Amino acid sequence: KEGKNRTKDKSDRATSELVMDDRTRVILYKMIQQNHISGIHGAISTGKEANVYNATLEPEDDDAPPIQRAIKIYKTSILVFKDREKYVTGEHRFNSASKGNNLRKVKQWAEKEFRNLKRLRAAGIPCPEPLLLKSHVLLMEFLGDKRGYAYPKLREATFSQESQEGSENPWRPLYIQLLGLMRKLYQVCKLVHADLSEYNILYHDNKLYIIDVSQSVEHDHPRALEFLRIDIKNVGDFFRRMGVDTLQDRTIFDFIISPEGPLDEPELSQAIEHLYETRPQVEDSAEAEAKREIDNEVFRNQFIPRTLDDVYDIERDSQQPQEGLIYKQMLADKVVTPQAAPEEESDDESEGESHSGGSNGSHSDESI
Ligand code: ADP
Ligand code: MG
Repeated sequence: KEGKNRTKDKSDRATSELVMDDRTRVILYKMIQQNHISGIHGAISTGKEANVYNATLEPEDDDAPPIQRAIKIYKTSILVFKDREKYVTGEHRFNSASKGNNLRKVKQWAEKEFRNLKRLRAAGIPCPEPLLLKSHVLLMEFLGDKRGYAYPKLREATFSQESQEGSENPWRPLYIQLLGLMRKLYQVCKLVHADLSEYNILYHDNKLYIIDVSQSVEHDHPRALEFLRIDIKNVGDFFRRMGVDTLQDRTIFDFIISPEGPLDEPELSQAIEHLYETRPQVEDSAEAEAKREIDNEVFRNQFIPRTLDDVYDIERDSQQPQEGLIYKQMLADKVVTPQAAPEEESDDESEGESHSGGSNGSHSDESI
């Protein structure tokens, strides 16, 4: 990596290799001048709606290693940039800038992410500490090692030899941990993540870190419960693939939204273990299997937030909360019928809810 003998033009050098618009460049330049960062390094992630970079700040003490930071820059315009690679690798994603990602809008997303991260921190949910927000540029704590390597996403997590030799599946405690975090997010932060998956959770040293909360919604958002169900489904799908004996989605749903119950560890984990002990035995018959299929079908028929734009539109449309009310009623009755599903289902449903994307994957592919 770079040495510390930077010259006066370090700000220029730090931003000159990045393809970005002037506005963004000025913001980064100021961050360097004001000593929030000393330099920007490689892109950790180039996504459809934002890029995340690793940055460093030279410490006061010259012998200390540089302080690592992460910078999330929301995209304000179409810049082909490195997305090109994704087309080559078959990960087709059309740049949402084509739908009019104007500055005002992306500023709102950055602002929302900043605020939501603060809420998570206040609740003690592991996530990057938000440090500075300037327009559509968010400076935050870097989740990674001292050399600038980011922690792996949950889907890329690997476990030490000894934890693999144990009789327990090493993914199971992480599953339990995540359910607890989801309850806390809902009960304490009053938020539903709305894009929770193995792509938006980082893993390090037996601990899960929640990231990418710009699209998260208030728990009283008209569609909050639908988003929660989708989050639960995605989490369940992933951990089942990892061989974890998961709880029923509905059981988890009730656990998360119930006002009664613990909000902290170890009580959270204990409550979840209790759910395992008291769960109804699921018969392994074809009939039970068919029942589960119907349950899944209901999920698939429900609205799925695909992009930030979608959620944005919903927020504007939320003056008409009928569907949310119907939905809540449905839950109260414990009768969920597919025909009550919202209208937005008309999009391609078959793959909408799986986070099949590659390195970034936080937002489902667009159905174009
Ligand atoms: P997107 O909206 O593009 O999905 P994310 O917030 O999910 O943006 O960030 C994209 C990727 O960048 C993440 O999957 C993660 O690997 C990395 N990343 C994001 N924030 C941080 C951070 N604070 N520290 C380290 N890596 C991060
Ligand atoms: Mg993401």
